[in-house]
Amino acid sequence: MRALSLIADRKLELADIPSPRPPAADEVQIRVKAVALNHLDLWGYRGMAFAKRKMPIVVGAEASGEIAAVGSDTATFRSGDPVVMYGAMTCGTCKACRQERDNLCENVGGIMGFHIDGFARDLVNMPARLVIPVPQGVPLRDAACAPIAFATVQHMLFDNAKLEPGETVLVHAGGSGIGTAAIVMAKAIGCTVITTVGDDAKAGKARALGADHVVNYRTDRFEGAVRKLTGKKGVDVVFEHVGAETFNGSLLCLKRGGRLVTCGATSGPSTTISLMRLFQQQHRIIGSFGASLRNIRESLAKMASGLSPVIDTEVPLAQFERGLERLESRQVFGKIVVDF
Ligand SMILES: [Zn+2]
Repeated sequence: MRALSLIADRKLELADIPSPRPPAADEVQIRVKAVALNHLDLWGYRGMAFAKRKMPIVVGAEASGEIAAVGSDTATFRSGDPVVMYGAMTCGTCKACRQERDNLCENVGGIMGFHIDGFARDLVNMPARLVIPVPQGVPLRDAACAPIAFATVQHMLFDNAKLEPGETVLVHAGGSGIGTAAIVMAKAIGCTVITTVGDDAKAGKARALGADHVVNYRTDRFEGAVRKLTGKKGVDVVFEHVGAETFNGSLLCLKRGGRLVTCGATSGPSTTISLMRLFQQQHRIIGSFGASLRNIRESLAKMASGLSPVIDTEVPLAQFERGLERLESRQVFGKIVVDF
């Protein structure tokens, strides 16, 4: 079978490797159909000073597929069932896992495609408890965007920021995979969405997606625009993932008692904030990473009810690298999906 491995910094190799053994009693074997790309894949591809990778490693952290074979104790799955897979090898037994807070697992074995072999291969064995059925009517291409992109946003906006209908939310980088998901999810519950983009073409697309106000951050300061748009009040929630370049501006955009939730620091990992302002304004800053299995089920349910992910590009497995380069160039609106 085919497997795509990272063999050195910025070097991928598509090779023929032996198929996996038949699934163990508590496992299922999945025929991978689509892998969606995330910034996480870029971190692995480029190499990161502060996160160790194993190499060579099969890439791909977010994927969908079909059940190819089932273990003897996995009665809920049948051959041919469409599924998605959790992107990390959690233990399933620690307190966090038992409370369905999988992304806080105390004995996590690693992130797929980053610490342990990922999904960019024809067949993969997974513990059945980390495999989630895809509801009828959701294409596998869309479902591939559920385990990380949609579920991360679900976890950020609803578990962490507790976004409520009618609130106003600032979504940074509205053209990114998670930015597009945040726009559609916030609009779906009746929020007012202000979003930032880096060019006018993306501004039009963000508006078409439902954003109420779009700020081109290259020509306008978003802090000033938000102040104007909210009558100097500020927003209830900021959806952050840009990092150092925008973080303080984001805090300035929050109304008193507002919540900032962040899952990334693409523009830089460090900044200085005013603690005086933090407590006087009663702001909440919440870090968010990954999602729970429940968040993936919630995301798939949203897709089944018509909230489709925005797909920027589809590329074949042999062009995985081209997909990564496109993601790195930031000339993207939505998700890049690798088809098998
Ligand atoms: Zn655990």
